[in-house]
Amino acid sequence: MQKQNIEIIKDIKTVLEFYQAMGIERIPLNIAQKCRSAEVQKPPPHPPLGKGGRRGGDYSKKVIALKALRDEIGDCQRCKLSKGRKNIVFGEGSVDAEIMFIGEGPGEDEDLQGRPFVGRAGQLLTKLIEKMGFKREDVYIGNIVKCRPPFNRVPEEDEISACSPFIRKQAGIISPKVIVSLGRISTQTLIGTKIPIGKLRGKFYQFENIPLMPTFHPSYLLRNPKDKWLVWEDAQKVLERLKK
Ligand code: SF4
Repeated sequence: MQKQNIEIIKDIKTVLEFYQAMGIERIPLNIAQKCRSAEVQKPPPHPPLGKGGRRGGDYSKKVIALKALRDEIGDCQRCKLSKGRKNIVFGEGSVDAEIMFIGEGPGEDEDLQGRPFVGRAGQLLTKLIEKMGFKREDVYIGNIVKCRPPFNRVPEEDEISACSPFIRKQAGIISPKVIVSLGRISTQTLIGTKIPIGKLRGKFYQFENIPLMPTFHPSYLLRNPKDKWLVWEDAQKVLERLKK
């Protein structure tokens, strides 16, 4: 019994540390109740990923396929977003990733560096990934469109249609155990719906036989930090799914 209490205290400590890292100042009542009943799971340890990792022999094939896809994209002019970009942000991470995060499109920092999620929103995403028990390089991160929309506006239908086949192919090559779609555009594009993200998040959907968990975009969380705990709830469901 005493041992069980110690485990519960450790779980609560883990959750509180996560909230602190995510900048949460108050805990909603229902979360506090979950902590008391020890329903909140601490992140499980993950084996190191990398060459020869999760799916062993597929590694080389995946690297070659991703390289071929990048070559296919080339100096892409398939949509009007090509006009203002500095860099195409292809995506990055482990080709053997168990989790793939898919956002909307690059912002200014991402456009300058040619890497996804490296600005303030990216730092928040990295914190989430680490609190889930992974390193950033263990997962794969990409976007629905690979070039920055002007003034960070939402990508338009024709731009999404032109670019989203690439991230679909990336997901097919990497074949993660779970996709986490970040925000409305990513979620609605991948599962083909117009339902608002607030109604979609927190439940699993299917993207070409891969379980997909929608959650809020980190940029939204920067504007609405009180909703960070909802993203952590979604993340815990993802961690549970990875155990299966
Ligand atoms: S957003 Fe995608 S389709 Fe449009 S120019 Fe960039 S890489 Fe090509």
